Amino acid sequence: MRTKTCRDETRSAAPDHRTGPPTRDDCVALDAVDPIGALRDQFSLPEHMIYLDGNSLGALPRATAARVADVVTREWGRDLIDSWNSAGWIDAPRRAGDALAPLIGARAGEVAVADSTSINLFKVLTVAMRLAADHDPVRKVVVSETDNFPTDLYIAEGVLGQGGGSLSLVPATPGDVRTDAIVAALGPTTAVLMLTHVNYRSGAMHDMKRLTQIAHEAGALVVWDLAHSAGAVPIDLHAADADFAIGCGYKYLNGGPGAPAFLWVHPRHVERFRQPLSGWMGHAAPFAFVPGYAPAAGVDRFLCGTPAILSMAALECGIASLKMPGVSDDPMPALRAKSIALTALFIDLVEARCGDALLLATPRDPALRGSQVSFHARGAIAGHGYPVMRALIERGVVGDFRKGATDDGDILRFGFTPAYLRYVDVFDAVDLIADVVANGRYREERFSVRAAVT
Ligand SMILES: *Cc1c(COP(=O)(O)O)cnc(C)c1O
Repeated sequence: MRTKTCRDETRSAAPDHRTGPPTRDDCVALDAVDPIGALRDQFSLPEHMIYLDGNSLGALPRATAARVADVVTREWGRDLIDSWNSAGWIDAPRRAGDALAPLIGARAGEVAVADSTSINLFKVLTVAMRLAADHDPVRKVVVSETDNFPTDLYIAEGVLGQGGGSLSLVPATPGDVRTDAIVAALGPTTAVLMLTHVNYRSGAMHDMKRLTQIAHEAGALVVWDLAHSAGAVPIDLHAADADFAIGCGYKYLNGGPGAPAFLWVHPRHVERFRQPLSGWMGHAAPFAFVPGYAPAAGVDRFLCGTPAILSMAALECGIASLKMPGVSDDPMPALRAKSIALTALFIDLVEARCGDALLLATPRDPALRGSQVSFHARGAIAGHGYPVMRALIERGVVGDFRKGATDDGDILRFGFTPAYLRYVDVFDAVDLIADVVANGRYREERFSVRAAVT
């Protein structure tokens, strides 16, 4: 795998004489030799916008609009119900799961694509709790983190409300301290360690293999949420020996708003228990119309109701958009190398240009972060994170704002989707950030009006 950092790349593009941060010309030169630069052509991006929010909603692949239109007008409009067979609608969840599997180190037939991440977490966490209790009835505790994505914690509450047990939350702490605190929280009553691989706020990435191994040694199962990982960083669920994983279709997989989510269950567990949402699409014979539930073989038993075909078609285009013919069968190493280079460049430039206003909240070591960079607002802009982000969006740099988890303050969050961002976009974004931070216009009242979605 390529592990070049931005500095290495910069050096090869613009040798010796400079010591300062890269120039715009350096960035143009990097784009010119970018081995996956052509991937950008597979996306439809608005002009005059630098989109640094692909970690929240991925951009539109060029193929999607025509494909969804075809599903609507031909498959639905003309062929109607026959399309369940003739257009392969019924197989869409399996097709999407098999296309996604190699990106997360799963095998064909192991990934179910359905529902939302929240619902899929409900299914796998319920099964994990049943497995743990079957092994040892005293194991009733789910260990997670206070700064896990809220829906994960809310769903855990729901699961525990149904089946009993309790939630033990490790407080938000940086770096190694975080791992140590999680390890210390595992004990003889731990049923499940439930973690999000890349933290949605800080971008910090857990060591999946190490934590899975430690949890197993403590007798616990592990559920990994890959919402901010799938399509962003290489993942190998089998190599990590993970138990369960779930994740999101509309972030780095570019499946469109509300895209179906995915779930993976290790083959050693998949047929041990029924999942709780035992709907007909997870039945062994959905069209036999028999009264009793009998689960399908394998991960298909984790399906529930009728798949959302329009969304499924868009998700299939999103997954396909990450694969560039001729680069390699597995696009993740090249995507990861560029993601590291882009995030390192962004950190260098922000710290050089506006380090007194923005304090890095993401691990500096690229091995410890996902594909996003977050900063705390400090100095002149302390407490103004939200209006600064609104002012930035008006200028065409789209990131987002998240309430801080610690006393360090609120977070300005920037996602870097390597499939469609250029080095020059990073340079131009920092130019605009430096201006917005310095010019004070973010103090205008309109920038402080909160939108429903932030
Ligand atoms: C985005 C995200 C979700 C989204 O859940 P939905 O049910 O699809 O809305 C869940 N968990 C994490 C960690 C996320 O980042």
